[in-house]
Amino acid sequence: MNESRAACPKCKKDVMFSHQQGWGKCPECGFQFQDGFIEPPSTGLERKTARRTLLDMILIAFLISIAVILVGGAVLFAGCLVLSGGH
Ligand SMILES: [Zn+2]
Repeated sequence: MNESRAACPKCKKDVMFSHQQGWGKCPECGFQFQDGFIEPPSTGLERKTARRTLLDMILIAFLISIAVILVGGAVLFAGCLVLSGGH
C-alpha cells in the first residue's frame, strides 16, 4: 500500500490517495478509481482539446446524417420519377 497526493476528481480536494490492489480511494469522499486515472494538473489543456474534438465529432456526425438524409431523399425522389414515368 502506497499513497499519492492528487486532486480528487469528485470532491476537488487535494488529498492523499491510498492505493490498494490497483485501486485508489479518496479519504475525503470515498471516491474510488483505477490507478492511472488521476492525471497531473498540467492536463487541463489536453482536456479542453479532447472536449473540442468530441464537439467536432458530433458536428461531423450531424453533417453526415444530413448528407445521408439528402442523398436518401434524392434517391427516393428519382425513384418516384422513374416509377411515375413508367406509366
Ligand atoms: Zn474526494
